[in-house]
Amino acid sequence: MVFTCRQCGTCCMYMGDYIVIEHQIGPFEFACESVSTGTPFIARVDDDKREIFLDHSFPDAHPSACRFLRPDGDRIRCSIHKTSPCQCKFYRCVVMRIFDSQRDLKGTVTGTLSLHSDDPLLRSVWETAERELSSEGADREEQLQKYLEARGYLVE
Ligand code: SF4
Ligand code: SF4
Repeated sequence: MVFTCRQCGTCCMYMGDYIVIEHQIGPFEFACESVSTGTPFIARVDDDKREIFLDHSFPDAHPSACRFLRPDGDRIRCSIHKTSPCQCKFYRCVVMRIFDSQRDLKGTVTGTLSLHSDDPLLRSVWETAERELSSEGADREEQLQKYLEARGYLVE
């Protein structure tokens, strides 16, 4: 499934402790650390986001959010997209939406192939699939989709 980020900002709202600014090194340049991987990186505010970056009202009102997150019209965007850590660039919040045969949404799957569902039957099917399927990466995503479809689920 092709993932398109809607730039809603939800996944960055609690990243303030994980994307840390160590110190400022230029007007729009910061020495940072990605805490979860222990990786230092230089963040440069994207040229087309400098104006929104200079308004600090959003991060001031949302202290848990990543310091680089900013509202921009009806979107909430990363202001350092070009230099953001790779785990940010490749993050996919939803790669599958799983419906039953009545088209009721039963669960969603993240880019790390974790199921989010309160439905006990789907959870059980998923756990069995995880045990039975041996493939990795993109193959695994495709196989999980086929596994669910073979058991009557609709996957989008
Ligand atoms: S990855 Fe998902 S949660 Fe994060 S901004 Fe994009 S659509 Fe929103
Ligand atoms: S660097 Fe950008 S994508 Fe990563 S958490 Fe911060 S605002 Fe989100």
